[in-house]
Amino acid sequence: MKKSLILCISVLLLFSCDNSKQQETDDYKIGIATFSHETCTFCPRPTGINEFEFYGPPLKGDQLLNANSYINGFVDRITEYGCAQLEGITSPRGAVGGSSGSWITREAFDKYTGAMQEDILNKGPYDGIYLSLHGAMAVTGIPKPEAEIVRRIRKIAGDIPVIVTLDLHANEDHELSDVASGVIIIKRYPHYDSYYQGERAARLMINILRSNYNPVMSTRKPGVITPSVFQGTGVSPAMEIMERARRWEDRIPGVCVSVAFGFAYADVPDVGATVMVITNDDQELADRIADDMNNYIWRVRHEFAGKKLPDTAEGVRLSIAAAKRGNTPVVIADHSDRTGNSTHILSELIKQGASNFCIATISDKRLIDKLKETGRQAADTVTVAVGGYADKYAGDPVEISGTLAYFNKYGRYDKVAVLKFGDNNTVIITPDLHQVTDTDILGNLDLSLDEIDIISLKSRVHFRRGFYENGLAGAIFEVDAPGLGPADLTNIEYKNIPRDIYPVYSKE
Ligand SMILES: [Zn+2]
Repeated sequence: MKKSLILCISVLLLFSCDNSKQQETDDYKIGIATFSHETCTFCPRPTGINEFEFYGPPLKGDQLLNANSYINGFVDRITEYGCAQLEGITSPRGAVGGSSGSWITREAFDKYTGAMQEDILNKGPYDGIYLSLHGAMAVTGIPKPEAEIVRRIRKIAGDIPVIVTLDLHANEDHELSDVASGVIIIKRYPHYDSYYQGERAARLMINILRSNYNPVMSTRKPGVITPSVFQGTGVSPAMEIMERARRWEDRIPGVCVSVAFGFAYADVPDVGATVMVITNDDQELADRIADDMNNYIWRVRHEFAGKKLPDTAEGVRLSIAAAKRGNTPVVIADHSDRTGNSTHILSELIKQGASNFCIATISDKRLIDKLKETGRQAADTVTVAVGGYADKYAGDPVEISGTLAYFNKYGRYDKVAVLKFGDNNTVIITPDLHQVTDTDILGNLDLSLDEIDIISLKSRVHFRRGFYENGLAGAIFEVDAPGLGPADLTNIEYKNIPRDIYPVYSKE
């Protein structure tokens, strides 16, 4: 070979890849798709095409490259490697109402997996595919939907690396790890590390494509199901479980140790905690780590899944007492309400004579529509019935006479209502479930936290990012008001979950 040709090839190699050790040209084509839902199968309304397309038609092409923070992490890292071309595969957006939606219809599932298959057929072949899934999807007639998504993709894409990232509320088992090349799950709740886990997925993908890594997986089901309210990773034992996983990862470079705590409000056969370990071609090591994590979760099951919380009356009594002591703002986590429409905390606060409280928020599309139809405007005096109808646990509508302090746009909503009544009390009404995770909403609606002693949030754990981790809350009470997501799982009527899972069936 002539010297000039060799030089030319060397220069090309240098520019085709930022890793100078890499000898071959590796201009990979990687597809990116997402299909995410946390399905509350006890919630009243199914999730169909209308729900998935409420905010617009499925994402296509480059829209996918910025679809969520997992994908942002994946794309940024792959771009840094500089050796791959990224392409979006047609994928549905997030469904309206998020996790207050029930069973996904077969029609919707087939439509979106079909669109992915068609895209892969038309635009492929791909060298690898990255799938950003949630893991707690429940689909009518399909017991393990995430595994089925990967199987359908593989049918067209063939035997290529398929890397999956999941939320830690995922309900999965070996069926997913049997078909995916690697599964990586976030480790923090509130979910701060989705970008980081997306980056790890990118690194795994590139290492597999370059034949530097041969992933083998080991999956375990400890047989423990926990309510979301006990899963915050800033508290024990959720914190120790994730710390144990990170310890394994730090001790042995190249292993990836994931734990999904699971989502208890989906009545599915693979419900509950899942351990998924990836190693580089070392099945024995993967099994050993998976066994250790599995056994540890079983050992801490009582603390993790068996605690009791105060009921509504007791929780409100404790909150008022804390406010009187000056530990304001007091946060009431109304963690169990998944449709956002329940009125238990509101009516109990009124009953116990609380003042300076704020309910953020109650979802009540009926009321918003009625205010619109009757031409109501901010500063009007109104008497309205609030919430209390969306599901059988929602309580009763509460009649409120007061002032419509705000009736205008907020965030993705065209109208949000703020009702002021009694001794400086406030109820914020949104058209659907709105999980308040920080104080931004207050300023946007002309409310001030300085004037609020007690704030009740429809949130289990995510509120901690804006109220607890920054030291804002003077006191926090998680209250087990009636709802579709109770802390006491033993009262839920499951049909499909394993008959030996703790604490629902196994009391030991
Ligand atoms: Zn989650």
